[in-house]
Amino acid sequence: MRLADVRGHDRVRAILARALARDRLPPALLFAGPDGVGKKTLALAVAQAVLCERAPAPDPPPNGKPASGGEPCGECRACRKISAALAPERLEELRNEADRHPDEDVWRNFRLHPDLVLAEGWWLTKAGRARPEPEIRVDQVRDLIAEIAGAPFEARRRAFVVDDAHTMNEAAQNALLKSLEEPPPRSHVILVSASPLALRQTIRSRCQLVRFGPLPRAAVAAHLVERRGAPEEEARTRAALAGGSLGAALAFESEAYGQMREGLVALLERAEALDPLARMEAAEALEQSEDPALLLTTLRSLLRDLLALRAGAPLESLVHADIAERLAPLASGRLGEQAGLLAERAGEARSALRGFANKLLTFDLLVDALAGD
Ligand SMILES: [Zn+2]
Repeated sequence: MRLADVRGHDRVRAILARALARDRLPPALLFAGPDGVGKKTLALAVAQAVLCERAPAPDPPPNGKPASGGEPCGECRACRKISAALAPERLEELRNEADRHPDEDVWRNFRLHPDLVLAEGWWLTKAGRARPEPEIRVDQVRDLIAEIAGAPFEARRRAFVVDDAHTMNEAAQNALLKSLEEPPPRSHVILVSASPLALRQTIRSRCQLVRFGPLPRAAVAAHLVERRGAPEEEARTRAALAGGSLGAALAFESEAYGQMREGLVALLERAEALDPLARMEAAEALEQSEDPALLLTTLRSLLRDLLALRAGAPLESLVHADIAERLAPLASGRLGEQAGLLAERAGEARSALRGFANKLLTFDLLVDALAGD
């Protein structure tokens, strides 16, 4: 994995590549930003560059410009080992090893190379089930600390990536702090987190903060087309709904999504004709949705498209351009008139469901609003 292979984040990649090329990577880094934008992928690429055998010497001769530009070569022994360990099947194997310890809670630090450890907040309960809330425990961090303090086995340096670092419990954070206070000269620690404020201030202050923003919609769509072979129109829809998260766009199941959107368009088409009983049924059907947040995001984007159509926006600017001919009649009717307000209602309903709002009641009120009450 090269830094250049990570989608978006041009400035962050350039800064990190420069630090690597000059052999000036800080000992502790915190990659902070939304889920699914490539923080962990970039952290692993940086770690690979740290271990790469063809990395520049600390003081390159005046005429010996670092040819790598900070990138791992991809060919040396270290690079090949890391690439092999990161193959999806291999990671799955490592995770399955956890099954061999049925009697205890299992946590894993994955060794991707003798000098590269990936710690994840993923573990199983005694019953062998994945926990709903991952947590990085103090034993896991103690193990990591011993590694951080050690000298490299094979490479020039050692690297440690802690994914979802905010899931370290209090004891784990306290334990890690010492390592970050006096980092050994040949170890680099990269913490990755979507909730950096859940980390103790003392941890944050010892790390060089690297901020990641959401990915531009076009970058997410391009990735889906070029790397995943998604049709362009579908890629644009998925990118628009994923809100700058490549992870969310990839996780998206297009068939289930297609059915859900069809249900919503059909609901909009008959919204005004619904009698009270049919409204209750419609609300119940929405309540049964497997992913209410995606459903409401989709509803909001449909309503916004109605607004755009009404304003005469070009078809290609719509999120749902592929069904523009079904949206056009809706846009010119009452729904189109109220689309702005209704889109806001859909957004509010989504926020409400994140809290403790009653799901069915929330959908009841929303369907009433769509029906024109
Ligand atoms: Zn290499």
